[in-house]
Amino acid sequence: MPELPEVETMRRGILRAVGSRITAAGRVPCPKRPILVQPGPAALQKKVVGQRIESIGRVGKRVVIHLEKGDALVFEPRMTGLVLVADPPTREHLRFRLDLKGGPLKSIWYWDRRGLGNVRLLSPKQLDEQLRGDKVGPDALDITAAQMQQRMEQSKRAIKVALLDQRALAGVGNLYASEILHLCGIHPARRCDLLKIEQWEAIHCRMRQVLELAIMHEGSTLSDGTYRNALNKSGGYQNHHRVYDREGECCPTCNRGSIVRIVQAQRATFYCPECQRNRR
Ligand SMILES: [Zn+2]
Repeated sequence: MPELPEVETMRRGILRAVGSRITAAGRVPCPKRPILVQPGPAALQKKVVGQRIESIGRVGKRVVIHLEKGDALVFEPRMTGLVLVADPPTREHLRFRLDLKGGPLKSIWYWDRRGLGNVRLLSPKQLDEQLRGDKVGPDALDITAAQMQQRMEQSKRAIKVALLDQRALAGVGNLYASEILHLCGIHPARRCDLLKIEQWEAIHCRMRQVLELAIMHEGSTLSDGTYRNALNKSGGYQNHHRVYDREGECCPTCNRGSIVRIVQAQRATFYCPECQRNRR
């Protein structure tokens, strides 16, 4: 958390900054341990001030602000980071700010409760080296079913674990992986190399469906309340979760099974043992 739908919502929330010029950038004095800012705050400020924001994109679970000289400011929220344009949930966890002129937004803020996220300024070469190629796979909303199968079908890993591998496919995280597999009726521990072509197609189709619907609802705000959109409002997709964090509840698909929680690669997985059996 946050995953593709939440980060895409953050991106859309600051899109109005395109065309504005940066007047200041840097860490906000914060009582907590400072987040990683690369290069250091002074060097970053020197490089970005005066530059115009050309476009705002997303690479997997990162917001990427492309600047006119070709470099890009990358916000990586990791566990509890938020990209905001309105008052933050708390003052003490504000970590970084970008002041703007020439457009409707005065500032973009980066807030992070745990402080595990980071803000980095990357050159075009660093962007290629760090956020493309074999480091970050194709975006979950761009990849085709055939590409997805080709990238993952050799693996003996469980499909749920493979879906989280950002080098294979970028954007899907722990929450949405459980939701996607439940809609496909595929057991989360099913080995990738045993999945058939129809199952890859089903995973691809349901993945798009879940992610697009979650974007429409502006992401999922879980019980800890951490995730907020750029205006500091909760998302709405948590009300549509079918299995995630619903251990013991009746399965909404078959109305027979009760949702089970297991741990795969140190992460919680939720599924229905009735309609997601581990068989061919
Ligand atoms: Zn079921």
